[in-house]
Amino acid sequence: MKKLTESIRNELKYKNYLQVSNLCKSLGGADIKMMTITENVELCLNYYDHLTLKSRLPANEKHIIKYGIDTMKKLELARETKKAKKDTRARLKEQFHKEVGIETRFRTHLMVNAHKKAMVITSRVHPGETQSSYALEGMLKFLLSDCKEARQLRRQFIFYVVPMLNPDGVIHGNHRTDLLGFDMNRRWSDPSPWIHPTMYAMRNFVSLIQDERKIEVFCDIHGHFQPCGGFMYCNTYDKE
Ligand SMILES: [Zn+2]
Repeated sequence: MKKLTESIRNELKYKNYLQVSNLCKSLGGADIKMMTITENVELCLNYYDHLTLKSRLPANEKHIIKYGIDTMKKLELARETKKAKKDTRARLKEQFHKEVGIETRFRTHLMVNAHKKAMVITSRVHPGETQSSYALEGMLKFLLSDCKEARQLRRQFIFYVVPMLNPDGVIHGNHRTDLLGFDMNRRWSDPSPWIHPTMYAMRNFVSLIQDERKIEVFCDIHGHFQPCGGFMYCNTYDKE
């Protein structure tokens, strides 16, 4: 997976729709890589950009990010025609290339990518489930391809992909656990920033994205030891 991430990152033809960043360090000090895949990816903020942006806002103004998004959507985009929206996006992109501070980039990103929903894809929380990496490799090759469905998906969604949640477990040959013997997949609800840094960063990142836009799908890829083929375990919701 590391080789794949590196070879994809170095592929220049992907540069307009792929960004590779570090989400955090694992407990054992390995980089947790995150890929962002979408059209206009140069505007997207990675986890550290989001944290920087948030830290610069005074405590009583943290709601501004959410408030800002809603207002922008309502005022700037809702009343515009399709042609005007296109012009606005072009103008903002041009402005972005002149002035590249995080705040400017974030504002531009909110406008240009306002219509997109997010998809979050993770895998290898269980290090022994190697087949999940093969499934993800196929998914990435498709999402980065030139076929028209992939291009359409990149226009409509922002994909945040974390291919390797538990590299420490892989390095040490564990089947389900991390460096300390915890099953990280049982730590989503209350991860510690010290003991489960990857789950903590991932959860925090997802909530930052949720402030910004709707997350259409969160898909964590595993491998099962009995059933064959592909299948999904999904959440159920009460009808309201
Ligand atoms: Zn699993």
